[in-house]
Amino acid sequence: MNLLHERDYKVISLDAARSLLFLTGNHRVFEINADLGDRLTEGIDSMTPGEWEEWRTLEAAGYLRNVHTPLLSRSRYADGANLAINVNLTGSCNLACTYCFADGGDYGRIRNAMDSHTVAFIFDFIRDHVTESGVVRFEFFGGEPLLNFARIQEIYAHAREFTEETGIRFLHRISTNLTVLPPGAPDLFRSGNFVVSVSIDGGSTTHDRNRPTKGGQGSFANILGNCFRVRAAGENITLVARMTVVSEQPSLIENVQELWSYDLFDYFQIYPGVTPASGSPFSSSCGSTGLVQLGEPQPRAATMNSSFLRQLSELLNEYPRLFQPGNRFRGVLEYERIAEMALAGKMALAFCSAGSTYYTVSPDDSVMPCHRLVGHPEFQLNRSGAPADLGDWTLPVDNHPVCSTCWARYVCGGGCRQENFVATGTLRGLNEETCTYQRKLVEGVVRTMAQAGNDYRAIPRQLDDLFISCGRPVVENGREGDERPLPEGLQHFRPLVTTSAEKERVLCKQN
Ligand code: SF4
Ligand code: SF4
Repeated sequence: MNLLHERDYKVISLDAARSLLFLTGNHRVFEINADLGDRLTEGIDSMTPGEWEEWRTLEAAGYLRNVHTPLLSRSRYADGANLAINVNLTGSCNLACTYCFADGGDYGRIRNAMDSHTVAFIFDFIRDHVTESGVVRFEFFGGEPLLNFARIQEIYAHAREFTEETGIRFLHRISTNLTVLPPGAPDLFRSGNFVVSVSIDGGSTTHDRNRPTKGGQGSFANILGNCFRVRAAGENITLVARMTVVSEQPSLIENVQELWSYDLFDYFQIYPGVTPASGSPFSSSCGSTGLVQLGEPQPRAATMNSSFLRQLSELLNEYPRLFQPGNRFRGVLEYERIAEMALAGKMALAFCSAGSTYYTVSPDDSVMPCHRLVGHPEFQLNRSGAPADLGDWTLPVDNHPVCSTCWARYVCGGGCRQENFVATGTLRGLNEETCTYQRKLVEGVVRTMAQAGNDYRAIPRQLDDLFISCGRPVVENGREGDERPLPEGLQHFRPLVTTSAEKERVLCKQN
């Protein structure tokens, strides 16, 4: 097959002299000269005889083989993902965030807090849906889940008994605003090795503007104090700063640097806030606009702050410097996942696990494929979790008429269905803004990875239990050549690899 730029590979500019070649089919990255990069944007036929010779050497060594397309076609959705239950504990929330997708916490329809009856239902559901991994992830969610802490304790106790009975292992994660910290919560987080994902958008100026209390007061000081209490409760608690970006002053990099300076957070997650534009015809359940071609103008129904991509680029320039021996920072989860896919040879089977192994259970016992769409009963699954048709949720990226031609498809996995829905009224019609963001993100992380040098590339990455990108199923791609010595004498295509010795050295430095 003739390889095409932007479909089968992507040339990423590094500087005036160097570019990168990213291969869609196996996520291998080569450093190349900028001149070769420029010609490759026109097509591979533009290579010189010397470049062709190296290309064939790499081909013979298996370095260019597309392993992703066949792997995706023979994969199942449960591969690379645990069963994950988003436990929607309550419709109550004590904040009034400017970008809330949950109508203030209750999605316009959740009237009660979860009770014990639903807990029993959840464990019955787990018996029926646990995947081959034998691991189940709880994502405690709301509203503000700590406003129903008694139910979290009940589920945790029940999970321990369930493990003894069945051998099924549980992972615990909570998405909280941490404005409240009930007695016993820090101890529970420590006992259960919790991932505590705190919604905190930056320093007080940004955070208090974005996430005021319902009474209009700032919430930053209170939350930061609780972050210190959780941190003090145990080193085994993984604390994540979950930042939503909706403005540019103070900038994203300033906000990250402030939160980083407290030396509290193991990881960050950074999202562009995407909200329906006022008056959008697509801001509620509505008709289809059909599929959208890349680059084609779409109805401007969902908006991301126009400065976001520039701010992302600024942050990625500084990103490697955030890894310091004296700070517990281990990365931005989504960025590290992309770096891992390129460096360790992994691919995404889908954008997230919604519609396959990820379910949201609410206090009314309803089961939804996506936590953000709880307010849309038209997406509700029946009580067995077996819907009439989940085709639009689980459409493989190679079967999507637009995504199947995208160079980033085996990293991205096909886009967030909820963001598509907000923008276009359908799950499959692409939200162009967030699609552009996905491609810029992959491009930016690959560039940063190349510029940062071996010490960054050799960092050990253990990300599988951290529920990145709503449980994006990620599997090893089995590409050839990683364990063999590089073909000798490569001048035109210099693979970006980390040797075992480099990994060993970085590990020693960390310990
Ligand atoms: S949604 Fe993802 S896979 Fe689809 S075109 Fe956009 S970046 Fe590519
Ligand atoms: S990635 Fe999007 S569609 Fe998937 S669960 Fe998350 S919000 Fe829902």
